[in-house]
Amino acid sequence: MAKRAKTCFYCGGTFEDEMDIVEFRVPYTSGKSAHRRFHEKCLPEFKKVLEEQGGEIESASYRKKLNERRTAQKKPNCTYCGRLFVDTDESLVLYNQFGNSYGKYHPNCYIKYINNMQNADLRKQENKEWEEVYDYFAYEILNMRPSQARENKAIVYRLAALRIGKKRLNRGDVIMGVEAGYSYKTILYTMKYVRTQITEEFASRRFHDMNHKINYAMVIIWNNIDFINGRVKAMERQKELTEIETKKRLAEKERLSNVEKLPYQRKSKTSGKARWVWLEDEE
Ligand SMILES: [Zn+2]
Ligand SMILES: [Zn+2]
Repeated sequence: MAKRAKTCFYCGGTFEDEMDIVEFRVPYTSGKSAHRRFHEKCLPEFKKVLEEQGGEIESASYRKKLNERRTAQKKPNCTYCGRLFVDTDESLVLYNQFGNSYGKYHPNCYIKYINNMQNADLRKQENKEWEEVYDYFAYEILNMRPSQARENKAIVYRLAALRIGKKRLNRGDVIMGVEAGYSYKTILYTMKYVRTQITEEFASRRFHDMNHKINYAMVIIWNNIDFINGRVKAMERQKELTEIETKKRLAEKERLSNVEKLPYQRKSKTSGKARWVWLEDEE
């Protein structure tokens, strides 16, 4: 049998007097109910609260389960690769480096991230691609004038979030040097793909302000980016395969040319033939 609670369900206080205890069946959101003990004066108060809550209350175990579900949903993805941690305790590494960046990485991913951040060429390339994407969005999609387009925070936040595959940016999100989300190439291709559609929508609708336009354009970009991302990935795979094939062919060609360069090649041809003739004679 369950131990009887020594405290009032409503106020949490202890019972001084056995006569002061009343029991009441408490209906829970989970569908279950349970008898709970109250101070006599606390029960009417509790019933009032119960009524306000729609006749049900969250039990502690239900709340715990809900919290567990919420934290499970909030489980962090690897900042670098964007994948979930399989064995959280083992693979989770927490680091805080490079200014405000804050991330959780698979150990291998963290090494890749550091290498990327220390690679000056790569960072230059990333900055160049970022500017390209930003300019395309500001000038080609939103049709901004240069004075408007400079450092528009709304654009910066939305595009940076898109880069790491999120709708909104959180403080400390890592944008540079990571693989998670969509590449700038994918983002740029998607914008080019939907530009006409967005321009048409802009012409046929009324917009309150620039932010409204930015949000509208972002929705259309989000609706198309996975499709374009699939195409970009397939293209890259094809390019990789072709490169491997080319490398193989070149290696084979080099191998053959090396064989031809061997000094005894010409001689062995004739001697081989002679030997063959000789063998034929034997039969
Ligand atoms: Zn009480
Ligand atoms: Zn990772």
